[in-house]
Amino acid sequence: MQGLETAHLQCPCCWETIEVVADCSVAEQEYVEDCSVCCRPIVITLVCHDGELVELSGRSEDE
Ligand SMILES: [Zn+2]
Repeated sequence: MQGLETAHLQCPCCWETIEVVADCSVAEQEYVEDCSVCCRPIVITLVCHDGELVELSGRSEDE
């Protein structure tokens, strides 16, 4: 599974730390993933460089 990295992100809704799988075959992407704790959608922004995770941030979809 090349390009996949497991990373941790704090949920902007419940503040729990959740595990996300980042697909680093794409340089920059934004997608929505449901929090595994509170099930609310989180907009995840992912930046990768040369297949390595550079930046990972999450924000609430409501804002
Ligand atoms: Zn949550």
